[in-house]
Amino acid sequence: KMNTDLGQHILKNPGVASAIVEKASLKQSDHVLEVGPGTGNLTVLILRKAKSVTAVEMDPRMAAEVTKRVQGTPEGNRLKVLLGDVIKTELPHFDVCISNTPYQISSPLVFKLLSLKNPPRCAVLMFQREFAMRLFAKPGEKLYSRLSVNVQMWAKVSHVMKVGRANFNPPPQVESNVVRIEPKNPRPQISYDEWDGLLRIAFVRKNKTLRASFSTSAVVELLESNYRLWCAQNDVPIDDTADTLSEDPTTDTMEVEMNDKDDDEEEFNGFSDPDMDDDEVPDFFKTAQKKGGNPKKRRGKVTDLVREKIRKVLEDVAQVADKRARLCDEGGYLKLLYAFNQEGIHFA
Ligand code: SAM
Repeated sequence: KMNTDLGQHILKNPGVASAIVEKASLKQSDHVLEVGPGTGNLTVLILRKAKSVTAVEMDPRMAAEVTKRVQGTPEGNRLKVLLGDVIKTELPHFDVCISNTPYQISSPLVFKLLSLKNPPRCAVLMFQREFAMRLFAKPGEKLYSRLSVNVQMWAKVSHVMKVGRANFNPPPQVESNVVRIEPKNPRPQISYDEWDGLLRIAFVRKNKTLRASFSTSAVVELLESNYRLWCAQNDVPIDDTADTLSEDPTTDTMEVEMNDKDDDEEEFNGFSDPDMDDDEVPDFFKTAQKKGGNPKKRRGKVTDLVREKIRKVLEDVAQVADKRARLCDEGGYLKLLYAFNQEGIHFA
């Protein structure tokens, strides 16, 4: 009996299983990580082509089953089964990752692989179709989202094949696709948290211009407090005299923007993964929303300075103020991050 809460959908088509392993272009010297071996349909094929397999499986019954399957065969002692949640498991070194992924962990798994100190040469992973298509969507395409830019910063993603529901037992509710992820080598020398922080702001509303996304009072407030911290850490003096009590020019329209969905944005059904939601509201916005409704604010010189830095970066340096988040590629965001950092503006 399968536990579908654990995403247990066994791949029953041997043709698909061998195609997946084929696409990993394994070498005899490779150490392979398999996530969720289940009954071991992929595992036995991988063992034939690679030096060793470490399989991480959460369900003890499945772990026992795959172990039993290779016991007493020459392959048996080249397989190591780790019982547990792959997201929480400390992983040994591996060259390639192969997985018919339990869909609940799609996004955490991708980012776990990409954030490893020594990322694998490649990962061949099965995902539910919508998730897979977001991974390789290009700027301007319907499915282009924060996930797309984020992954494409760290890796080259290519589509391998579609796999229909009928190839699994029991069939899942959604169609699947296999993708191949090749982490960039060398790894881009930027901070993951800074990059992620920038993208979270840009993609709160992916149809808005970057000028609009970066000039809300919530964002200015956040960037100001990061800027103050940066100044303190770098011995940069700040002029903290308060300005006269004046009207805050920021348009406090966050509540409206958050709640009305743009017409051409589609919502997906079937995602249980919070990381997938581009419209996820970062915490600092929630705070700002609560505080809303007070148009008169005391504005300090630092606020004006930060506001001017934001304007300068978007308009003069990176020149992306009029771009919409959904049309900007990872190179554009990288340029933007670099320009902000040059001005002492940080996102983490
Ligand atoms: N690899 C097998 C196949 O292709 O037939 C089974 C794939 S099935 C979609 C996913 C497997 O991952 C299940 O065996 C499930 O128990 C396991 N699993 C679910 N969540 C997991 C997690 N967080 N860490 C490790 N394994 C997990």
